[in-house]
Amino acid sequence: MSFKLNPEKRRAIYERDGHACQYCGYPVTEKTRTLDHLIPRSGGGRHGVANLITACVSCNSSKGTKSLDRFRLFMALKRSRYAGILTCDQYDQLVAMGVDLGPIPVVVFPFETIGGEQ
Ligand SMILES: [Zn+2]
Repeated sequence: MSFKLNPEKRRAIYERDGHACQYCGYPVTEKTRTLDHLIPRSGGGRHGVANLITACVSCNSSKGTKSLDRFRLFMALKRSRYAGILTCDQYDQLVAMGVDLGPIPVVVFPFETIGGEQ
């Protein structure tokens, strides 16, 4: 995913986000940093600074065109005992069938904690 954004705005976003991926929280380097659309372009997301956040290559490619809530479920499953076992769709189907899968981790993305409250 590449698009034109002037280098100063790009740098300002990395600065604002503390040079850390806003999905997994790990620091990014010049080689691993990307910008991601919080609301995907395909979902009507704007191409402005407010809709852009720092993401590492890995999270950006995992997120793809998923909505934020879909990606949250993806990350929760990845951190749960169902990692590598259930996809988001399978999880949803099982829950819809009334299967009790128990709790899965609550995922709060770093950018959601800005300001100190969740
Ligand atoms: Zn990341």
